[in-house]
Amino acid sequence: MAHNQELLLSIQNLSTVFPIKQTLFEKIQRKPEKLIKAVSNVSLDIAKGETVGLVGESGCGKSTLAKTIIRLNDPRHGIIDFADIGNLANAKKKDLKKMHRKIQMIFQDPYSSLNPRMTIRSMFYEILSVYHLCERSEYESKTKEMLALVGMPEDVLDRRPSAFSGGQRQRIGIARALIMNPELLIADEPVSALDMSIQAQIINLLTELKSKLHLTMLFISHDLRVVRYISDRVVVMYLGKIVEESPTENLFNAPKHPYTDILINAAPKMNPDNRERTYAIEGETPSPIDIPSGCCFHPRCPYATERCRREEPALSVFFDDDGSERKVACHYPVKGRIHGDI
Ligand code: SF4
Repeated sequence: MAHNQELLLSIQNLSTVFPIKQTLFEKIQRKPEKLIKAVSNVSLDIAKGETVGLVGESGCGKSTLAKTIIRLNDPRHGIIDFADIGNLANAKKKDLKKMHRKIQMIFQDPYSSLNPRMTIRSMFYEILSVYHLCERSEYESKTKEMLALVGMPEDVLDRRPSAFSGGQRQRIGIARALIMNPELLIADEPVSALDMSIQAQIINLLTELKSKLHLTMLFISHDLRVVRYISDRVVVMYLGKIVEESPTENLFNAPKHPYTDILINAAPKMNPDNRERTYAIEGETPSPIDIPSGCCFHPRCPYATERCRREEPALSVFFDDDGSERKVACHYPVKGRIHGDI
């Protein structure tokens, strides 16, 4: 992010682990506790008005990071400094309640996050009432205003979620998040359960809303094409760690980390002429219980050396020719490869 931007969220050295339940035998043997290291020492800033894309293969810790920010998971250590509330990592109940109004999430499966027994009207009225967002006399107009914002007609008010398609439910989920006027919107794989044509509609809607409402967004996806379209800056995660961070076009035009380079090559191409260049990442992602020594990507990296197996690369800052700041965690960053459209 540029130095003159105002910070909304600043995460420092955040780690989230999940202990694995020990068997009685392991307890008697006093075996050391095993941990799933879902998020490891992540530091990340998000400025007001910025959309940050968070990418990586499934299981790399993207969703755990999002859930830790809103404290659905407790961090093992680290700081989550948010706006005027302060550190969410050790926030009291009162401040967490304040945060739950200011940070809203959009989920992959809107159906599971919408109460099937409630009509759209009762769902929205409940939020307006619980959070005292407006006068009772304004509930209907406010609800209709939010539905119009996401392209839903107002005659849907007395219907239940089961009456809608996946794309319509996601529009309702977005309206429900926006009615709170959040300072930060976290979208966790918001289109991955939808058909391709509907995906494009929802991404276009989010892009429109982003500029209309000056939204600040953390957009999580495994789909690089979607992330490229919507994000100002992209953060790449692998095995719970950030391995690269860059303004979007700089990353796609010249990825520096071998993992980013391979991910971009492995993504399906929009341009049919480029299709033969698609290839897959070799090998399985190692277990987050047993993270490889040195650089955690070394078992799958085509450029790995003995140094990579031994020494963990720091996330180092450098500057592109256009002056923009980039970060990469690699002893031997990729040089000068250019990618076409994906
Ligand atoms: Fe590959 Fe070594 Fe860079 Fe890790 S540090 S990504 S193993 S070249």
